Amino acid sequence: MPAMSIIYGPVPSWRLGRSLGIDLLNTSRKVCSFDCVYCQLGKTDQFMVEPREFINLEQLTSEIKLLSQTKADYATFSGMGEPTLASNLGEAIELARSILDLPVAVLTNSSLMFREGVRHQLAHADTVIAKLDVPNEEVLAIVNRPAPELHFAPIVEGMRRFRDEYKGKLALQVMFIEANKDYASEIAALARQISPDEVQIDTPLRPSKVKPLPRENIASIREKFNNLRNVITVYEAPKPEVLPLDLAQTLRRRPRL
Ligand code: SF4
Repeated sequence: MPAMSIIYGPVPSWRLGRSLGIDLLNTSRKVCSFDCVYCQLGKTDQFMVEPREFINLEQLTSEIKLLSQTKADYATFSGMGEPTLASNLGEAIELARSILDLPVAVLTNSSLMFREGVRHQLAHADTVIAKLDVPNEEVLAIVNRPAPELHFAPIVEGMRRFRDEYKGKLALQVMFIEANKDYASEIAALARQISPDEVQIDTPLRPSKVKPLPRENIASIREKFNNLRNVITVYEAPKPEVLPLDLAQTLRRRPRL
């Protein structure tokens, strides 16, 4: 099989089962609008907030066609940064779904959802997993360290709008670390306003500069989310056994899934 660069995995995802990753950015360095303290892809050298095309659809088609027989539960747009920075995300989702015959998920940091165009691109996915780690601007600056032009209020407003418009499954992902663990009640209150179909409570169990919270902390954080639908935590979720097709390409991006 020729070397692949855009598609990696399948990897076992505690949220999506066997997940075939698609990296529409496919850059050697992370491309992101955030620089989260716990990011497993290293530091954000240069912020990016304006979507552009990184990979054209012909390149994507030729790689996806090689994999149309691969066993997986989901095709997931993730990879070396924030997938909504790829301006052709919506078309790429449609392409992946039609060739692979799999449901499509996108993992996003939610930072650009305030833009109508980004919401339209995301709306093509069957599942959107949207990050919300913080309850206000101050903690956003400590945990997610966004590009200077991005602010808390428009980000949350963008998430609410997306919820109102979107017909697919919206999951909210909250990464808890020491710096935001005392804000679980406030984040849960925001989650209730956004009203996702599922809440995923995470902590960085894979190699990260920031230590994960222990099981007991996550269990008490989970209680704050009690009256939300379908709350799952990284400690409780089972992981399926899978073997990646190309180990090197997978390990390069694996942290994000
Ligand atoms: S964790 Fe995700 S959103 Fe945060 S800096 Fe890394 S790639 Fe970007």
